[in-house]
Amino acid sequence: MVLETQKANLDGKKVRHILALSGGKDSSALAVYMLDKVPEMEYVFCDTGEELGETYEYIEKLKNFLCKDVAWLKSDKDFKFYLDMYNGVLPDANTRWCTRMLKIKPYEEYIGDDHVVSYVGIRADEPHRKGYISTKKNITTVYPFIENNIRREDVIRILHDAGLGLPDYYKWRSRSGCYFCFFQQKIEWIGLLENHPELFKKAMKYEKDGSESSDVGFTWCQSESLRKMTMPIRIDQIKKEHKLRQSRLNNGFMAEQRLADVWLDDFTDSSTSTACNICHL
Ligand code: SF4
Repeated sequence: MVLETQKANLDGKKVRHILALSGGKDSSALAVYMLDKVPEMEYVFCDTGEELGETYEYIEKLKNFLCKDVAWLKSDKDFKFYLDMYNGVLPDANTRWCTRMLKIKPYEEYIGDDHVVSYVGIRADEPHRKGYISTKKNITTVYPFIENNIRREDVIRILHDAGLGLPDYYKWRSRSGCYFCFFQQKIEWIGLLENHPELFKKAMKYEKDGSESSDVGFTWCQSESLRKMTMPIRIDQIKKEHKLRQSRLNNGFMAEQRLADVWLDDFTDSSTSTACNICHL
């Protein structure tokens, strides 16, 4: 196997090899896949402080499998600090200040001016995704799964064969990231409500942000507040729409795929297709 990695070594300078784990299936499978290929690999996890418990558990499990340290990178300021700094304006798909401040900044500080090969788990069957691409000249991004034609079914097999399986949150959510991630589908918000009601409440409080009576202004979803989403009639409606969509997918062009696979990647709406991959791979 010839990786871009080897080209990056040609200038004779010491090169660090770093794989940023998100707690998702693709970066985890990449860590397993690269284990005996790049023994000097450094593993990092950029913790926003707003992750799901399942993510921490899975990273721990992965760490034990790899028998490697995982550097825990965290901003010295938390989400609330930045939220205040941005005048209470919640991050969204356009601003993404959360990714910049809580993920990319700590990651780039950890790297400093060293020459680094950064490994990203984008698969061969999703070339439309971009992943984290640094503008820093000392960072070379490589995509071993694309280079070696590793696809979704391979990723699932890699994790299965390693005895890791998938992170638990895949039962109700399609990707890793903060519990309040604005890239979530509405059915995933309902999943958060049912699986982690206390986190849902926390997310709801960020929406109010100082205004106890109002649910307009800064909401995680553009079209409705979380408070409205918790109304029983609305929950039913979201679940019904989800089921309908699932059955259409199952009866139609994706009939050959298992339901679990549908959850994993393809059951997305337009907003999730642009999700930032340093958070979600
Ligand atoms: S997971 Fe979502 S909310 Fe968290 S940093 Fe990434 S984009 Fe922002």
